[in-house]
Amino acid sequence: MASVDADASRVGLEVLRKGGNATDAAVATAAALGVTEPYSAGIGGGGFFVHYSARTGEVETIDGREKAPAAMPHDAFIDPETGEEYPFFPDMVTSGASVGVPGTPLTWDKALRTWGTRSLAQSLRPAARLARKGFVVDETFRQQTVDNAERFAAIDSTAELFLPGGSAPEVGSRFRNPDLAATYDLLGRNGVKAFYRGPLAAEIAATVVQPPKNEDTDLPVPAGWVTTEDLAGYTAPDREPTRSTYRDLDVYGMAPPSSGGTSVGEALNILERYDLAAMSDPQAYHHMLEASAIAFADRGAYLGDADHVEVPVEALLDDTFATERACTLDAESAQPKPVAAEDAYDYDGVCDNASGAGETARDTENLETTNLTVVDRWGDVVEYTLTIEQTGGSGITVPGRGFLLNNELTDFSTTYRADDPNRIEPNKRPRSSMSPTIVLSDGRPVLAVGSPGGSTIITTVLQILVDRLARDRTLPEAMAAPRASQRNAASTGAEPAFIEAYGGPLTELGHGFAATAELGAATAIEIGPGGLLTSTAEPWRRGGGSAMVVRPLD
Ligand code: GLU
Repeated sequence: MASVDADASRVGLEVLRKGGNATDAAVATAAALGVTEPYSAGIGGGGFFVHYSARTGEVETIDGREKAPAAMPHDAFIDPETGEEYPFFPDMVTSGASVGVPGTPLTWDKALRTWGTRSLAQSLRPAARLARKGFVVDETFRQQTVDNAERFAAIDSTAELFLPGGSAPEVGSRFRNPDLAATYDLLGRNGVKAFYRGPLAAEIAATVVQPPKNEDTDLPVPAGWVTTEDLAGYTAPDREPTRSTYRDLDVYGMAPPSSGGTSVGEALNILERYDLAAMSDPQAYHHMLEASAIAFADRGAYLGDADHVEVPVEALLDDTFATERACTLDAESAQPKPVAAEDAYDYDGVCDNASGAGETARDTENLETTNLTVVDRWGDVVEYTLTIEQTGGSGITVPGRGFLLNNELTDFSTTYRADDPNRIEPNKRPRSSMSPTIVLSDGRPVLAVGSPGGSTIITTVLQILVDRLARDRTLPEAMAAPRASQRNAASTGAEPAFIEAYGGPLTELGHGFAATAELGAATAIEIGPGGLLTSTAEPWRRGGGSAMVVRPLD
């Protein structure tokens, strides 16, 4: 059991200890994260749930991504007063306009019904208890509140809950959320329909359409479009997972509307052609950064909600396509970035295409989601990433209900071009980067990993997989290794320790770096011989995560 937070991991571990399975524990933990990490995830948001069943040997997924309301216009983020896009932060994100129909409650319910052994009521109970009792505010929670204080103050219901007495709660104080506890109780009592229909649904829609804006704020807080019909019509579909191979391993990931599975898979397919284990660290990371840039070029060209646009998933994960994509990867020098996308409808694996210049997409995805990994005694595995997008989501709390609404719709591209696969469209799900990944060997799971981090999720998951699977580091080493993130941009974001360790030789190869304090907040579990579990979380990023096992080895 691994999550970013000790209180939440303990809730999950308790479920496992009492005989619950991985799905039971995952839902209970996620509900607890809605209490202790309310700015990262909760019932006002969405996510992707990936499940391996030991009984059937199958990997299946639930798409709980938020959905644009039916009335959302293509130019939703253009300020009618100026004709220009709202400034991104804090204006655009603090808006009803950015709120998508939440998918998390239905994801929990569906996961429990499909694979769980416990009811929604049972699964929400420990989290409701935690919300009533409260948790001790740590530095991360306080800092996140301080960083968002201006926009939280702009919404009366949010200020009331998260800025008690007008300011961020002190470190060491207890933060209680009885409103959320009551909302969890309501869902437990009346089922998930109490979220998507009835009074709570009506309140959600009313809050989006007319956000409870403080009269003194200078922020515009544009209204959104979510209606009770949008809520009643929401579904969390099963999606066929993406599948690609890395050597003799099968890598299962999240299909569109996430770009996680195709991007991680494509990069691994490219890297599969090199003996990374025989390379020096800088050489291996050079290959990883180049493969990542290529995968991001194709992601920008093709990824969106496959219910609305054609996404060539098979081509992007095809080894012949990867062979052709590897043509531009030069072991001696970095390609000029951005690199161009490849034609996924016309390729033959032959190196004949001149590589043109590509474009770097504007990247506004936020970095604060949450992720959890669970393996149970029967060998079932859950990898689950969930989010409300921005830290604090839209900044809008449903009055009296104790949870924030997401701003996931800002994950749509804002090129406003009709041919952009991730263009804003009504009833569409914005493209995600979430990459919950389960790796199988001979049909048995060996590793599950996922992370928050917006578009850096893809590179964090890729790097952990590369370090563990291709470079033979132990999982704890792979989790601790300093990270870098190349997303088809002129410069590579990297943690200071990465730049210090590898920046010299990589700069000589033509890479440029921009320091970023930390990348990701991953969790991962390895299933070793005899079912021995190595449960891992971040040693220090985001204040350190929390990994546990039911029966530790002495
Ligand atoms: N909205 C992002 C996505 O779907 C996740 C945000 C985050 O990781 O904080 O990829």
